[in-house]
Amino acid sequence: MPAEKATAIVLRKVDFSESSLVVSLFTREFGKIDSLAKGAKRLKGPFESALDLLALCRIVFLRKTSETLDLLTEAKLERRFRVTGPGLEGLYAGYYVAELLSEMTDRYDPHPELFDLADDTLAGLAAGDDVSKRLLRFELGALRELGHLPALECCAECGKPMAMSGRITFGLLDGGALCPRCRQGKRQVASVAAGVLRIMAQFAAPGDRWRRIEIDRRSHGELRGLLNHFVCHLLGRKPRLHEFLGRLDAN
Ligand SMILES: [Zn+2]
Repeated sequence: MPAEKATAIVLRKVDFSESSLVVSLFTREFGKIDSLAKGAKRLKGPFESALDLLALCRIVFLRKTSETLDLLTEAKLERRFRVTGPGLEGLYAGYYVAELLSEMTDRYDPHPELFDLADDTLAGLAAGDDVSKRLLRFELGALRELGHLPALECCAECGKPMAMSGRITFGLLDGGALCPRCRQGKRQVASVAAGVLRIMAQFAAPGDRWRRIEIDRRSHGELRGLLNHFVCHLLGRKPRLHEFLGRLDAN
């Protein structure tokens, strides 16, 4: 069986035995993999404590068939995830990135652009960037990459461009904005300011424009509420880190 090489972000690790770990990794080349790292809890060895949560590393692994764990044979640390500055927000935001990558992607389903976005997000969080904006960028960029971005400028049902002013009906089950005709009789709808959908579209768009977006507190609260609901619907449950996202509103 051939050894595969990849660049990876450590998503999760669980004790397997006295000395070994099961490590979940998001790789740029292969997508998510679950692997067994024998002897990883010893300080010296082929992993040399490279398997820190959210660390970026170069790995070598043996790909196993279907249901068994892959075998991690080497991991070399490229960058540890260390958040500088006061507060735990950056750290929790990193955990949320790991949770979304883990829940929203499938094993052996590579998304190199999503990998790059995650890598860039973690580097930004570690450097002390604005946590709220970094998260919005990651979530909306990830939704776009994975084909889950809700309709923000056209009606999700009939495809007609929306008049982007006032309040807009957003169908949580219908994949986004709904025009006055299509919203009739729909369940689980929210009313959102058009400006909030515009901000979401800007954060989802490729490129660097999101960095220059200023969000007032009220819009941020509304945006967070809508996005939290949408992500819950998508995952079928509430992400563990949503509690923490609620507290970001107070910034
Ligand atoms: Zn419509």
